[in-house]
Amino acid sequence: MKKEAVLYEKLDNNKVQCNVCARRCIIKEGMRGNCSTRINEGGILYTLIYGSLISRGSIDPIEKKPLYNYYPGHDIFSIASIGCNFHCSMCQNWSISQCYPNENGTKAICDEGEYRGPNYELVQLSPSELIKIVEKSGCKLIAFTYNEPTIWHEFIMDVAELAHQKNIKNVLVTNGYSTPEASKELVKVIDAANIDFKAFTDDFYKRIAKVKGLQPVLDTAKLWKSQGLHIEVTNLIIPNENDNPSEIRNMCEWITDNLGPETPIHFSAYHPDYKMTDHMRTPVDSLENAYSIAKQVGLYYVYIGNVHSSVGNNSLCYSCKELLIERSGYTISKINLDDSDSSFNRCPNCGKPTYIQGMGKKRVGFSF
Ligand code: SF4
Repeated sequence: MKKEAVLYEKLDNNKVQCNVCARRCIIKEGMRGNCSTRINEGGILYTLIYGSLISRGSIDPIEKKPLYNYYPGHDIFSIASIGCNFHCSMCQNWSISQCYPNENGTKAICDEGEYRGPNYELVQLSPSELIKIVEKSGCKLIAFTYNEPTIWHEFIMDVAELAHQKNIKNVLVTNGYSTPEASKELVKVIDAANIDFKAFTDDFYKRIAKVKGLQPVLDTAKLWKSQGLHIEVTNLIIPNENDNPSEIRNMCEWITDNLGPETPIHFSAYHPDYKMTDHMRTPVDSLENAYSIAKQVGLYYVYIGNVHSSVGNNSLCYSCKELLIERSGYTISKINLDDSDSSFNRCPNCGKPTYIQGMGKKRVGFSF
């Protein structure tokens, strides 16, 4: 639904500047910003997707986000809207992310494919209606996921605040292309995030994601971490695009130096999709090579996703190598954490903090 946006400035000639994401679009009267979810009408900026959801939500394993070191084995209530501030040629979720809303946010218009029909209805929910659904599901975690949550700022702020009142935690699965202004609001209500590092070069961000560069993503990750959010990083490895070993090493070194070696990284397999169907699937060897580099750099928790691999599944204590969590896909067969200290789970063997947050639960019968 349509609602006046926050974090925008009024400029001359009825133009406005949106400061919700690092694109900082300057939008003329009658036009939309780059994400097509925000419109300037008479010098006022509106979001068209406040409370507009692609469905009434679904329950996912938290490992699917992926978050492996945050409430392992728990279910997370997952919601999404439509649209994105990125237009990646390889988008794995393009049927949602590359749609845009009609004039009042009740329908998704999809020019580039017919995921649910070219013009499908969006579910309209207020924050309190949504929270009631989440409570009924029994989930204690909500994920804003599947499309880019940065552009859903107003709705997320309202939902997340209500969620906290009900002891429900909030998770973002995001490209991290935020602004300091938006981030300062988000850190008040968001508890954890998985940030997608699409690559570690400006060239990739310019060429593939069609934005100016990587720096805003790094700034967001640092700011959120400094404010106490639990952060995990995902890197989708695409053959011949971002799989250069020196680039992966640079990324891992930056994470170690700026977010800390306890920050989990997930190397994820690409499958040909959207406008990049000419690239092959990521070979398991490439993911395992990235795994080795990250371990050499000194990251404690390195995971491999979307494929079956002999490494990158389990969580081991970085100090004594005790097996802490045993996984196969989304199945969790063993949880071995000392949760007697409320701040962090500890290794039951050597007593070091694991930086794995939340009580773990076993889960059976789930694969990728
Ligand atoms: S959210 Fe980002 S892409 Fe959308 S209008 Fe605002 S600055 Fe532009």
